[in-house]
Amino acid sequence: MKTPEIKKFLTDRAWQADRLNEHIRITGWVRSTRHSKAGISFIEVNDGSSVSSIQVVAPKELVNYSEIEKITTGVSIKVSGILVESMGKGQDVEIQAKEVEILGAIEEPENYPIAKKRHTFEYLRGLPHLRIRTNTFGAIARIRSSVANKIHNYFFENGFHWVNTPIITSSDCEGAGELFKVSTLDHAQKKIAALDADYAEDFFGREAFLTVSGQLNAEAYCLAMSKVYTFGPTFRAENSNTSRHLAEFWMIEPEIAFADLEDNAALAEALLKAIIEHVLENCSEDLNFFTQQIDKALTGRLLGVLEKNFEKIPYTDAIEILKKSKGDFHFPVEWGLDLQSEHERFLTENYANGPVIVSDYPKDIKAFYMRLNDDGRTVSAMDVLVPGIGEIIGGSQREERLDILDSRIQSQRILSQLSWYRDLRKYGTVPHAGFGLGFERLISYITGMDNIRDCIPFPRTPGNAKI
Ligand code: ATP
Ligand code: MN
Repeated sequence: MKTPEIKKFLTDRAWQADRLNEHIRITGWVRSTRHSKAGISFIEVNDGSSVSSIQVVAPKELVNYSEIEKITTGVSIKVSGILVESMGKGQDVEIQAKEVEILGAIEEPENYPIAKKRHTFEYLRGLPHLRIRTNTFGAIARIRSSVANKIHNYFFENGFHWVNTPIITSSDCEGAGELFKVSTLDHAQKKIAALDADYAEDFFGREAFLTVSGQLNAEAYCLAMSKVYTFGPTFRAENSNTSRHLAEFWMIEPEIAFADLEDNAALAEALLKAIIEHVLENCSEDLNFFTQQIDKALTGRLLGVLEKNFEKIPYTDAIEILKKSKGDFHFPVEWGLDLQSEHERFLTENYANGPVIVSDYPKDIKAFYMRLNDDGRTVSAMDVLVPGIGEIIGGSQREERLDILDSRIQSQRILSQLSWYRDLRKYGTVPHAGFGLGFERLISYITGMDNIRDCIPFPRTPGNAKI
């Protein structure tokens, strides 16, 4: 039988009041137990609906008490009993059990990999199917789900259409890192040199890859629907073992027509603020948990983001700021070089002490589709940088002028591959802009979890695609 979420008994005051001293049922997994010598068992039960568990008090009079007093962490149970005010501290209500049915026991409790004690995140990363049973990973999963829902709502409320761009693509020209190949050919059997000619025999009749971004496809939809976004998985075979990179991650990519870089930056700021506001209002239990357990400054920092406008710094000024800072950087600071993570962190953490939008980067370090500025040497690109992470958003105004777009595409091969993309400039071109927000970096920012591998259920990184 379906039972209500445990969260309702704990946090919904009206729901709780209505059921006080009434018979209720719950189902869930045991988080911890205390079996007293006097013959009472205190059992904390969690069903994933909240960080808090509900306390079940089971007296020795229950017919199966000899089984109940052997219950350990992880056992699944069904409880029926009376919801009563709790005498103990830490909870308002508890359940005086009338029946405790053990649904699934724990095989060899002494070897249960996540028995009740503190485990390191690194240890838990080895157990992606079980780590979700801990408070931290439950809280991350709830915030992830709630934020995804908010993002969809935000766009729907603002007149955007969700576009499902393909995961398999044949274009290898987005210029965003290394691609994973998609093929049904038996590559092991073929000589590498012979492969090129053989793509005709391959599943798609041409070389295909996992997408690194839905942007180019989203542009096609944007140039008919005006406001669109994608929200889906993207893949990068970059061999970077950092706490901010995954080989498979989710990206939110809005694309807006009749819009310039300023409109793009305004959308990025409004979206991030709407998400943070949502989390502060709707995920407070989980957010308090992260603030207590992971990063004491978290809630204060998120509240601070809502209070002021994002700082805006053109790249050229950012270089001056970094040079003047005399910061002890590992990588060189020079006009024309890309900003490294340490530089981004300096700008957002030390200089602005909050989110920063860096714009107008040198054209030579940015992709061909970014709009050339009048100075001829920078493009209308923007990155949003946040404390603790660095880049969380990368975006640009797109080059809508066909002749300039063509001059930015160096190779004939790419030019011919992009004939459809050039069509968009030939037939009713308009100024448009968009950006990519990394979903896991966003979750890392909102939860204070340092490592991006802990911000996605089943992380894929070089050397690891467990489960
Ligand atoms: P970085 O320089 O930090 O590697 P990027 O400039 O390659 O990122 P973009 O191509 O601009 O990233 O992608 C847009 C957004 O997607 C980034 O701002 C970031 O939030 C996210 N992102 C990019 N690469 C990854 C990755 N490997 N894992 C997780 N998120 C990523
Ligand atoms: Mn970027």
